[in-house]
Amino acid sequence: MNVLAPSPTKETADLAAPAPPLALLAELTHRCPLQCPYCSNPVELERSGAELDTDTWLRVLREAVGLGVLQVHFSGGEPTVRKDLVELVRHASGLGCYTNLITSGVLLDGARLKDLYDAGLDHVQLSFQDTDVESAERIGNFKGAQARKLELAAQVRELGLPLTVNAVVNRHNLGRLEEMIELALDLDAERLEVAHVQYYGWALKNRAALLPTREQLDQATCIVAQARERLKGRLMIDYVIPDYYAKRPKSCMGGWGRQFLNISPAGKVLPCHAAESITGLVFDQVQDKSLAEIWRSSPAFQAYRGTAWMPETCRTCDRREIDWGGCRCQAFALTGAADAIDPACGLSPHHAEIFELAEREAGAPPPPFVYRRIGGA
Ligand code: SF4
Ligand code: SF4
Repeated sequence: MNVLAPSPTKETADLAAPAPPLALLAELTHRCPLQCPYCSNPVELERSGAELDTDTWLRVLREAVGLGVLQVHFSGGEPTVRKDLVELVRHASGLGCYTNLITSGVLLDGARLKDLYDAGLDHVQLSFQDTDVESAERIGNFKGAQARKLELAAQVRELGLPLTVNAVVNRHNLGRLEEMIELALDLDAERLEVAHVQYYGWALKNRAALLPTREQLDQATCIVAQARERLKGRLMIDYVIPDYYAKRPKSCMGGWGRQFLNISPAGKVLPCHAAESITGLVFDQVQDKSLAEIWRSSPAFQAYRGTAWMPETCRTCDRREIDWGGCRCQAFALTGAADAIDPACGLSPHHAEIFELAEREAGAPPPPFVYRRIGGA
């Protein structure tokens, strides 16, 4: 008797042949002169001796484009510490990619910026820790950073490169959000990213020092809404709220293993920049396998791709293909189980306790920062 195989569901099709990724975050290094307490790098930072060499990055970029990647975001740590950055940007640009540099700006001078521009760099995303110089330099633990950032922003715009100002907001700088918006306008930025700290890695260690109160958050949300209205067509403002005060989780990375991959300085291929915080997942390395093979069948990518892994509440929820169950790293950090409902979701059994914890920590005096540095955790 000839038994017909059941036709594949969308779920099994997603797992067997995932759509190509759109973007690659190339974390060239974990070295950085700043020491932000909310840094999204893992707590166990890679040393420079473990970094991929230039030839491997050139090969990986070719493989990424072959796989379908359209955008390459050069990041770190501070990517400008890499001597081969211009070569890597030129290569990615020559392959037809949109290239973005994510930088703290303190090591990049005008001449090197011009070299990057000539190599085909398309965009610069520059981080600011605050508008108040003393506070900014205390958060980043780097004297003289603010003046250098302002100078670089001007040089970026003189070249005609589009600029995004990235403002990571927390209880220490939220009171100056209006000034941050003014700063982005003064710098002629096209886009301002107002991103509340997301609590993994270093930020989780510093949560009690960084979490804003509910009142601070509500005020910030109101300021952003008014500014968006007032500055329509002049400044685009992206806004990411802290998950601890959310009712539904964000669609983290547009879904695990759906649109995005991240390569760590040592060559691990990750579904998101924080994925190494989930212990027990094994990440394939670009030194051992092609990027295409890793994207299609790496166990770490398959683990939470699609909806089959989801707990019952998510599997039967009409938002399951909108937020994809939220953030796996956050679920792991707060519940110890990466396949739990993200506690940012009001339907999680942990939601109320997380919200109470946030209110308690944000209402107490902030402890000193644990600065991001090798061995600092
Ligand atoms: S968040 Fe701060 S410490 Fe981390 S890479 Fe960016 S500038 Fe460096
Ligand atoms: S139950 Fe799951 S899918 Fe539904 S909103 Fe919450 S996290 Fe999202």
